[in-house]
Amino acid sequence: MNIAAAQKHSGRQDIAALASNENPDGCSPKVAAALAGLNPARYCDPACTTLRTALSHKLDVPADRIVVGNGSEEMIAAACRAILRPGAFVATLCPGFGLHEIEALANGARVEKVAMRPDLDFDIPAIVAMLTRKPVIFFLSSPSNPVGPALNRDGLERILSAVPPQTLLVLDEAYFEFTDDDMPDGLAALAKTDLSWVVLRTFSKAYGLAGLRVGYAVTSDLRLARAMTAAKTPFNVNAAAQTAALAALEDEAWMRASVAALKQERQRVSQRVAALGFRVAGSQTNFLFIDVGWDSRAALDHFLSKGIIIKPWKEAGYETFIRVTIGSRSENDRFIEALTALATE
Ligand SMILES: *Cc1c(COP(=O)(O)O)cnc(C)c1O
Repeated sequence: MNIAAAQKHSGRQDIAALASNENPDGCSPKVAAALAGLNPARYCDPACTTLRTALSHKLDVPADRIVVGNGSEEMIAAACRAILRPGAFVATLCPGFGLHEIEALANGARVEKVAMRPDLDFDIPAIVAMLTRKPVIFFLSSPSNPVGPALNRDGLERILSAVPPQTLLVLDEAYFEFTDDDMPDGLAALAKTDLSWVVLRTFSKAYGLAGLRVGYAVTSDLRLARAMTAAKTPFNVNAAAQTAALAALEDEAWMRASVAALKQERQRVSQRVAALGFRVAGSQTNFLFIDVGWDSRAALDHFLSKGIIIKPWKEAGYETFIRVTIGSRSENDRFIEALTALATE
C-alpha cells in the first residue's frame, strides 16, 4: 500500500511508511546537487559506462562483468529471461523475496522452496540436500528478506561447496551494507570459486535511492553479463538514476553514517518488541520480521488505523508474521505504541 492510499484508508495525513525498507534519512545531499545539473533532453548512456567504471573500482571486478538495472529487481528478471527454459527447476527459500519466485514462474520454471528453520535462520543441511537436485537457478537473499539473518562464514562456505557446476547461484545482497563487520562478503567469497554466479546489490536501501530505480548485478563471467544485458531494454537506467547513483557512491560517508544510526535503532526497536513478548527474528537488515500472533492482514488493518503501513506476510506457515522497516525514531516509537496496543487488545 502506498502513502496516498494509506491516507485515504486511515483518514490520517501523518503516515509512517514502514513496509518497503526505504531509508528514512533520505539520501546524500550530493545526490540532489548532482541532479540539479542534469539535462533531461539528452538520452542516457545505455551502457552506464561511468557508473560501471566506478562500481568496478569500488568492487575490484572488471566493469564488463557488471550489469546495471532499473532496480536490482530488473536484474532478477534479466537472469530468469537469459537462463530459463520452460519446465526448468528453480529453487529458493521460504519465506523469501517474492520476485525470486515470480520472475522464475513468469519464464515457465517450476519453483520449489526450502523452508527456513523454525528458529528463523537458514537451514543449511536442507539447502545442501536441495542442491544435489541441480536447480538451474538457486535464488537466495542474504541477508534474508523477509526474515533478516545473514549467512555466516560457515553457512556460506557449506552452500558454495554444494552448488553444482550446472547451477546458477543468484545471491541477492540488497541489504549487504547493513550486515555486521564479522559477516562474510558474498562477492569476495564467490570470486574465489569456479561457480556460475550473480551477486545483486542495490542503491534503493542503504543509499536511499528507491524511487530512482537503480541496482546492479555482478556476474561470474562475461558470457553471463552479455546474456543478461541482452535481456534488458537498451536505455533501462535513466539519466537521473545514473547521475544519482554516481553521486551516492562519491559520498559513502553519508551512507555509512545513516546505516550506523539505523542499526542502533534496529537494536532498540528489536529489544522493545521482544520485551512486549513478541517473537522477532535476528536481523542484519533495516527491518524486523515479527510474529504478532494475529492474522497478518488483520494486523495490517490495526496498524493502518494508526497511520502505519507494515508488510503483512502471506506465505503458508508465516501468516501471523509482519515485516516492519526501521524508520525514523519517531516513526519507530509510533510502531512500538501500536504494537503495544495490539498486545493488549
Ligand atoms: C528491495 C529488494 C530488491 C529490489 O531492489 P530494487 O533495487 O529497488 O529493485 C531486491 N531484492 C531484495 C531481497 C530486496 O529486498
